[in-house]
Amino acid sequence: MTTQTTKNSRRRLTIAVDGFSSCGKSTFAKALAARFGYIFVDTGAMYRAVTLFALENGAIRSGIVDDEALIALLPKIDIAFRFNPKRGASDIYVNGDLVEGKIRTIEVSNCVSSVSSIGEVREKLVAMQQQMGRNKGIVMDGRDIGTVVFPDAEIKIFMTADPAVRAQRRYDELTAKGEQVSLSEIEENVRSRDIADQNRAISPLRKADDAVVLDNSYMSIDDQMVWFDEKFGNLFANSQL
Ligand code: C5P
Repeated sequence: MTTQTTKNSRRRLTIAVDGFSSCGKSTFAKALAARFGYIFVDTGAMYRAVTLFALENGAIRSGIVDDEALIALLPKIDIAFRFNPKRGASDIYVNGDLVEGKIRTIEVSNCVSSVSSIGEVREKLVAMQQQMGRNKGIVMDGRDIGTVVFPDAEIKIFMTADPAVRAQRRYDELTAKGEQVSLSEIEENVRSRDIADQNRAISPLRKADDAVVLDNSYMSIDDQMVWFDEKFGNLFANSQL
C-alpha cells in the first residue's frame, strides 16, 4: 500500500482550528493537513483578499471602510485557491490574480477586522468555506470555524498564545519579507484585532464549548503535533473508513 493510499484510507474528519491573531494557526493546520492528506484552508486569507480588493477599488479610504460600497463590490470578487507545491499549501487568487504576497501587509491587517464584521462578507465567505468542506477530510483555520462554519466538526481546537509572543512572531514574519514595521505597531494591531474579533456582533471569535484549548506560547510545531496525537490520536487509530 502506498503512503498516499494509507493517507486516503484514513477516516476523513473535519478539523476546525480557531483562535487569536498570530497564534500560528495556519502553520499548525497546514502541518495537520499534510500529515493526514487533508485539504488545508486558511480562511483569514479569504477575509484579507476581500480587504485587499476593497482597498484597491475605493471601498476603503484612509482606513475607513465604506460598508455599502464594499457590499456592492462583493459580486465582483471571485476567490479561488490553487495548490502551490513549493509552499505545500494553496495560494489565493482574486479574479484570477495571485494575491498571496499582498494580503499580509500591515495595511490589510489594519482594515481586515472591520471588513470581517460585515454580515454580507461573512455570508459569502462562510458559504464558500462550507462548500469546500462538504466532503470532509479538511483542516480549516479561522475565528468561527468550530462555532459557525462547521459546528459538527469532529475535532475543534482553540489556539491561544501570550500576546507578546504572538506580536514577536508576526513581526519576525513581516520583517523577514522586508516589510518596514515596528514591533509596537504589530503589538497594537494584534491587540486591536483580538478586541474587534471578539466583540463584533456577527460570529464573534469565541471558543466553541466542545473545543480543546492549545496554548502554544512556548511550543515548537513538533511539540504541537505531539500534543495533537495525545489528545486526538485515538480518533484515527484503527480507522479505515
Ligand atoms: O487569520 P488571520 O489573522 O489572517 O485573519 C485575518 C482577520 O480575518 C481576522 O483578524 C478576522 O478579523 C478575520 N477572520 C474572521 N473569520 C475567520 C477568519 C478570519 O473574521 N474565519
